[in-house]
Amino acid sequence: MPSDSALRIVWIYPDLLSTYGDQGNVLILEQRARKRGIPVETVYVRSADPVPDSGDIYLIGGGEDRPQILAAERLRRDGGLARAIDRGASLLAVCAGYQIMGSVFGGEEGQPVAGIGLLDIQSSRGPARAVGELAAEVDTGLGGHMLTGFENHMGVTRLGPGVRPLSRTVVGTGNGDGTEGCHAGKIVGTYLHGPALARNPWLADVFLGWTVGRLAPIEDAWYDRLRDERLKAVLPR
Ligand code: GLN
Repeated sequence: MPSDSALRIVWIYPDLLSTYGDQGNVLILEQRARKRGIPVETVYVRSADPVPDSGDIYLIGGGEDRPQILAAERLRRDGGLARAIDRGASLLAVCAGYQIMGSVFGGEEGQPVAGIGLLDIQSSRGPARAVGELAAEVDTGLGGHMLTGFENHMGVTRLGPGVRPLSRTVVGTGNGDGTEGCHAGKIVGTYLHGPALARNPWLADVFLGWTVGRLAPIEDAWYDRLRDERLKAVLPR
């Protein structure tokens, strides 16, 4: 990123997929960038508007089944997100947003609905709703941290050979096969709300690092307190 330009964050479809506080992921990225003196510009793209392809970091959140189907149709027709990823932008996709990035996901009656195919995953409706705290060990390629968050979904997700699991589940359901989330290139998908980046500031820094390179360390005391409290509440002693 040239030093005179701002980091461009794009939040996709606040009017359709923002029901679980996932917009907090934007606030965490903004705060962690600004604390390091990195200027930030955030664009909120409503679903009637085109998704710009000039962003650096894209984020999309969770939501109900019908808005999820609408969001998938509009994103596919729009094409801006796919162009941005081709250009080297990164993407954090949460829950409904995560499922949309695959080739297919389950609609409100369990019917298969086409995704936009940015991740080699397939989702469908699972046997029971997965609700509650989740803890999982993250892929060492992304730092080997402990992932913490809250899940609330019906979907289960099968990972294809084009992606790697984001983590191995210790507590909770995640993808439904002992893994949680996935990653490929600069795309990370996860079922976790919380919001995910407030619970996992190391992941916010993975995204910032992909855009700006080396990052100065910053004070993490409040994040650490939140993580410790949540992890102690769920991890077996
Ligand atoms: N509708 C999807 C499911 O139930 C996504 C839910 C969510 O985003 N929390 O699996």
